[in-house]
Amino acid sequence: MPAATPDDRLVLDAHKGHESGTLTHCPYCALQCGMRLRRTASGITVDGNPAFPVSRGALCVKGWTSAATLTHRDRLRTPLVRDAGGRLVPASWDEALDRAASALRMTRAAHGPDAAGVFGGGSLTNEKAYLLGKFARVALGTSNIDYNGRFCMSSAAAASIKAFGIDRGLPFPLADIAGAGAILLVGSNIAETMPPVMQYLDRHRQGDGALIVVDPRRTPTAQSATLHLKPAPGSDIALANGLLHVLIRDNLIDESYIRRRTDGFHRLRALVATYWPQRVERITGVPQADLERAARLPAGAAGAMVLTARGAEQHARGVDTSLAYINVALALGQVGRPCGGYGCLTGQGNGQGGREHGQKADQLPGYRRIDDEDDRRHVAAVWGVSPESLPGRGRSAYELLATIGEEDGVRALFLMGSNPVISAPNAGYIESRLRALDALIVCDFFVSETAAIADVVLPSAQWAEESGTTTSVEGRVLRRRAACEPPAGVRSDIDILCALAARLGKREQFAFRSPRDVFDELRRASAGGRADYSGITYEKIDAQQGVFWPCVSETHAGTPRLFGDRFPTPNGRARLHAVRHGAPAEDLDADFPIYLTTGRTLAHYQSGTQTRRVPELMNLAPTP
Ligand code: SF4
Repeated sequence: MPAATPDDRLVLDAHKGHESGTLTHCPYCALQCGMRLRRTASGITVDGNPAFPVSRGALCVKGWTSAATLTHRDRLRTPLVRDAGGRLVPASWDEALDRAASALRMTRAAHGPDAAGVFGGGSLTNEKAYLLGKFARVALGTSNIDYNGRFCMSSAAAASIKAFGIDRGLPFPLADIAGAGAILLVGSNIAETMPPVMQYLDRHRQGDGALIVVDPRRTPTAQSATLHLKPAPGSDIALANGLLHVLIRDNLIDESYIRRRTDGFHRLRALVATYWPQRVERITGVPQADLERAARLPAGAAGAMVLTARGAEQHARGVDTSLAYINVALALGQVGRPCGGYGCLTGQGNGQGGREHGQKADQLPGYRRIDDEDDRRHVAAVWGVSPESLPGRGRSAYELLATIGEEDGVRALFLMGSNPVISAPNAGYIESRLRALDALIVCDFFVSETAAIADVVLPSAQWAEESGTTTSVEGRVLRRRAACEPPAGVRSDIDILCALAARLGKREQFAFRSPRDVFDELRRASAGGRADYSGITYEKIDAQQGVFWPCVSETHAGTPRLFGDRFPTPNGRARLHAVRHGAPAEDLDADFPIYLTTGRTLAHYQSGTQTRRVPELMNLAPTP
């Protein structure tokens, strides 16, 4: 399969004289900053793309240095297989693919289809995520497929579905931030995770907007805030309920909106009545006066926005924490209004699209449900299989990995775009489970810590070497375009999936000639689903600088803002949820006497498989 087609290359002359280049997007976070890649004698050089309306030419240091991984000396250029002596040794593609297919086939024959598992990632393009889901259900027939987004923002996704009936990280364009009168930013350090977003926060501040940061750490973002609230770890729900208590007590909620557009307020009001400020101060450590000031800032603003990120979401009770902050946005009557509402700042490069098109255990493409008969019928017809042949719901990420080696657990695992030896919770235990597999097959461009314990390693192409689409933090579908060919000996992930499926007897269902072919099938599979991509074409993405889903026909421009007049719930109303504060799943004791909390550094991304190989980034942050 050709990695790049002629329409992948766009020639530009707008901003820097008459230089030519390839317009694409950063391989790292969900902001998907616009880039122009140029081929020079020394390799690929990276510039920001000023014409891309979201990042406007800005990149962070990870983006500027991203081309360094393309030619890195550690780059895998040949498949590896484990030999009789236990060493990973070079192999031909045929040998490696035959071995991988044989291991998957034998596992299925001996232990049933669910013994073969698939694990994906939120950095895969939409085309790859879609194809990985189809590979699991059609080529392997397994229910056990999930991905590393479960360790990321899945709590907010689940909360959004419970409250709004749909999950799109930001249901509004990022530019709305600049127009918001007040922003409540919970558990996010934007200054380090998405520095180009600071231009919107700067404009927000220049317009007299108030920024309230909720974070136990005094991060660079918190230092720029109007007000910084520092709740004790594990007390976020109490803080949100305390804010709502003050809003209700002081008549600062939007009762008309609540009556017209929400359900569940009476139960919620009864619950938050018990979160009076003195009690919340005892639980959270946030002074009563700060809590009351924080409640009044968004209440008096024309547009108020509540944004959460991993600090609120990576909890044993992350769904409830996200729901507690959604309650605040709904009670203020802001959800669905311009420059207001609730959003989750998704992290991984395709964290949004990667959670929409079927690499989750309970999901089919287009946010369809695998346990819904109509959804199964629709997708089965697109795939040319019977609905009965599709497996049911499988285990979610941690359960899939943690039950390896158990009686009904996965015994052979195909893994693409993830490094769970580093990134999974309880990582030491998960590594022991991965080592217990009968076969581990990993696709990666470096020998990651997970690839190092695999039986077969398949070298795959990187972002600048292949095309496809991603869906950004805003729900804006964008095009990645290939700027160069992959090194000799390296194949694209799509190519690998098709080759393996053919060896498993499913050549016909995996006869794709290009990422565009895969995208066209994805469009049909998602048609009528909640994340409907049916009207999105590569040409429309080019013409509009991205297309916001849902986009239901080729004449439809897309949907930058959701929830304007109704929510996609059965009765069109949003749901408020009464969620209680409870003790953390684990608390201080004699053996574990201090709190640790997670945070991000500017210089590194995910498990660092890429960024730990870039000298400039290692100089900035040599250790965790
Ligand atoms: Fe932009 Fe994120 Fe890439 Fe940095 S890592 S350049 S913020 S997309």
